[in-house]
Amino acid sequence: SWCGWQPGDSIVRLWGKRINESRWSKMRTKMRQFLFKDSVFDSFKMSQERMSQYADRINEISPKVIRGYSHSLYLLAMYIRESARNLTIPACSSTAEMLFPHYREEIKSSLSARCFDQYGCGEIRNIAAECEVHDGLHVNDEHVIVEIVHKKEMASDVGELIVTDLDNYGMPFIRYKNGDIAKNIEGECSCGRELSRIGEIVGRISSSFITKTGTIVHGEFITHLLNELQISQEAGIREFQMIQNDYDKYHLNLVSKRELSKSEIYHLTCSLKQYLGP
Ligand SMILES: [Zn+2]
Repeated sequence: SWCGWQPGDSIVRLWGKRINESRWSKMRTKMRQFLFKDSVFDSFKMSQERMSQYADRINEISPKVIRGYSHSLYLLAMYIRESARNLTIPACSSTAEMLFPHYREEIKSSLSARCFDQYGCGEIRNIAAECEVHDGLHVNDEHVIVEIVHKKEMASDVGELIVTDLDNYGMPFIRYKNGDIAKNIEGECSCGRELSRIGEIVGRISSSFITKTGTIVHGEFITHLLNELQISQEAGIREFQMIQNDYDKYHLNLVSKRELSKSEIYHLTCSLKQYLGP
């Protein structure tokens, strides 16, 4: 156990729920969550009212760990402090984006939770995780090989991450450059584990949208939506940028191999309206 969680312990996740999930898939998800004592709260719909409901449910569940996007965990922690509520969770596992020192402090003081940062990517899930010493992240050496390759235009203590997945024979990732940049870290960890280490991942930052009704929607929502609607894959989206100009005014820039079809634009717009308002 790294953060106090043992198999069989309950876990709460503050995570982006599937946007267009079939009934069968929903049933499968519910069954899995029941068996693994895994409760998921949607980080794409974080209004004050919902965060209050989340806090009530989390108190009932009394989980050993809460896991989620760093920014969503930070927002929940801020809500708990500002609304003078009580929520105590032993540990927090943050992922998907940078865990800034002030996020860690807020989570620690408002949720009484020790924060353990974890790093992975969509293609290779669990790459590295913090131990109780909180000095860099231990690489999951049994499953991945991680290299940090310095380039001359970079600061001296960082490099590009190159990852080799040792488990995936179906879609091999060999010396795969996933676009992330990490700091180097020297020496052994004082926890005694001999797994190799990397320093913090730099530059992976998400922000959130705030709708007219006050609902907070994590920025990962756009990535999920483009994937779930198969637009990323079929139109070959290389880059995107969503700009919020006002509570109900958004501008989505896409770099894609081809133009989006009318049907793709229609489905995309409907889903965006559903989550971000009219
Ligand atoms: Zn350690």
